[in-house]
Amino acid sequence: MSSLLPRLQADCWMCQGIYQPKNLVFYQSKVSVAKLNPDQAFEGYTFLTLKWHEEELYNLADKDRKQFLEDMSLVANALSRAFKPDKMNYELLGNSMPHLHWHLVPRYTSDPMWGRPIWAGNRRRRRLNEEGYELLKRKIETAISTLKRGTTKRRQVE
Ligand SMILES: [Zn+2]
Repeated sequence: MSSLLPRLQADCWMCQGIYQPKNLVFYQSKVSVAKLNPDQAFEGYTFLTLKWHEEELYNLADKDRKQFLEDMSLVANALSRAFKPDKMNYELLGNSMPHLHWHLVPRYTSDPMWGRPIWAGNRRRRRLNEEGYELLKRKIETAISTLKRGTTKRRQVE
């Protein structure tokens, strides 16, 4: 019966702003939308947000959960290709904002929080200008299309 319930919540700002800010969105599938965090202190920091309101991974239908996890993995892979971080962090927290969304955070040995969670202390934020975000998005989009071509090729071989 869950399909009869409203899938977006009026009081959830993530539901209301899934495609916002528009200029930071670089990928979407049936279930999720990926966009850059306006704060780029960790280069490539991305949010991957579920397109409707749900608060726990285990409440998703199997196929939606699989797609959500595939999207997360694809975008993380693309971020790795685009920015060559030393490690990827994947976080699904939801303490202050329960709407399912991944924090995909490329980590660098040069980052001031290296070896610790990004939440471990106060840190500087880094905003870019319009062109800066565009450049990052283009790098990620290129990596995503390379990865998708790879998948298609493998399927053809099988
Ligand atoms: Zn929501």
